[in-house]
Order: sequence, then structure tokens, then C-alpha cells
Amino acid sequence: MFSQQFQLGSCRLKCRVVVTFVRLLEEMWLGRSSSCAPVEARSVLCSILPQFNNYSQQDAQELLLFLLNALHDDLNKHKMRSSKRPRQDQKRNCFPAVGGSTIVSHLFEGQLAYMTLCMHCDHQTHSTQTFTVLSLPLPTDINKCSIQDCLSLFFEQTVLTGGEQMLCSMCGLRRETTVLTCLDKPPEILMLHLKRFGCKGKNQMKLKTNVEFSSMLDLSPFLSSSVQNNSFSSYHLYAVVNHIGHLNMGHYTALCHNALTRTWHCFDDSAVREVQDSLVQSPNAYMLLYSRKPFQKPNIHGL
Ligand SMILES: [Zn+2]
Repeated sequence: MFSQQFQLGSCRLKCRVVVTFVRLLEEMWLGRSSSCAPVEARSVLCSILPQFNNYSQQDAQELLLFLLNALHDDLNKHKMRSSKRPRQDQKRNCFPAVGGSTIVSHLFEGQLAYMTLCMHCDHQTHSTQTFTVLSLPLPTDINKCSIQDCLSLFFEQTVLTGGEQMLCSMCGLRRETTVLTCLDKPPEILMLHLKRFGCKGKNQMKLKTNVEFSSMLDLSPFLSSSVQNNSFSSYHLYAVVNHIGHLNMGHYTALCHNALTRTWHCFDDSAVREVQDSLVQSPNAYMLLYSRKPFQKPNIHGL
């Protein structure tokens, strides 16, 4: 009994991010106030990621990736202690942690496939890369486009020339290379990041392009031929991260779909309010989060 309590205690100490995150979720779903301040979660995150322990401008996408990494690492630490022989046979994934897969990598990880073609000798190479976020370029010089346009740009066939030429193992020389990218494994949860912050010439700037999106997204045009016939490339939008403001000074808000009430809510610091479906689409969208399966009731005791 004591040893069980000790183990639980040491897990609580070592898996602080997971424990704190679960507590935050419980407070959000079961709490009586209309909003809650994630003070403890912020403090735990800042203790492992001191770069966020200040009031300077931060990137929501970076923070989300750091948070998911921290959760993945924590869950792996717990798994390593639970099993005496940690699995060594798992291939490294893009969560740079010890151990293998967790619920975090299971949900958020997808895989891209690249095919390169030497323009001189037609030699082909194939490679894959895991990802958690797809950072999509925006078409330049237009004010309005669709999320499909951004995805088409991302998956567009490119030809690497000049300094970007790749070394061809058959030619033994750097050659002009065609690169084809496609989706080899669509993730359960798809996170799309719009690359609004970039450079125009020497000037850094924020692109204010109005990217139109709908509540459903079909990724089948971008699937590799090996997975094309499977019908699991259709996604439901469940959250949007908005960035309001400029490059160096802005404010983030989140729009989240509540699967229980089937309504959208806007989270703006301590102000949480229900919003009409029609207000989800806006030129402020910075990240779009889609799920392959519609969310059900969260598995929280007491809900
Ligand atoms: Zn070649």
C-alpha cells in the first residue's frame, strides 16, 4: 500500500505536465465559472520551458508543439517506469523523446512521403518524414484564397535549381531535382498552420490574406497512391487559433467546438462566449485544427 502510494507520488512529481494538464481539463469541463485561468499549467510549462516565462510576444504554434512534446515526454517517462524493459524497437518519431509512441504521437503524428527525381538521369529516391503540424504557405499578391489553395501550394511539385540542387547518387553530381510530396499517413488530428509571418524582400511582415475554410476538409487529393483507396481522409474542423494584430504586437484567441452542445465558443483571455457558426471563418485564422472522427463526450469522471 505504501509503495503504491509512493509510486503514485513519484509519478505525480515526475509527470507534472500530464497531471497539471488533466487537472486543467477537469476544471474546464466541470468547473462552475465561465472561465478558468491556467495559472498552474503555465507555471509548470515555464519551469521546463523558461523562454515562455515572461511577457514577450510568443508564437501559439510553437507553444502548442512544446506542450505536446512535454506531454509526450511525460507519458513516456511513466511508461518506462511501468515496464521494466523499455521498448527499443520503435523507430524515432518527430517527438524527440525517449521510448516509443504515446496517445500524443498516436493522435497528432502523420507522415509525408517525398519522391525525388534527378532531371539528368531520371534516378528516383523515396523518403518519408513524420510531422505534427503542416505549415502551409499562402499564395502571395492576392487578398483571398482557400485552404485548399494553401494545401495545393504545399504539395505542389517543385524543381530544385541553382544552389538548391540535390546530389544525385547515380550522377555523383548536384543536379536539378524534381520533388513530389504527398501524404503517406494522414494523422488522426490534423493541425494546419498558416505561414502568415514571413518576409517581403528585406521586410518582415504579416500576411493578412483571408483564407477561406469550411467545417469539412478532404485530403484525398494529396494522399500517396498506397493509401488513396482508404476513405479516411475526411476531416471535421473543431478549433481555430486566431491571431489579431501585427507582426510584433498581437493577441491570440481560440474558437473551439463543443461536441456536447454542438456550439462554437470563443476563448479570449478570461472572456468565454458562445459564437455563431458563421463567425468561425475570419481573416485572423492562424491555425486550423481538424479531427478525422467527430469528438464525443470527453472521458472525464463526473461529466
Ligand atoms: Zn542523376
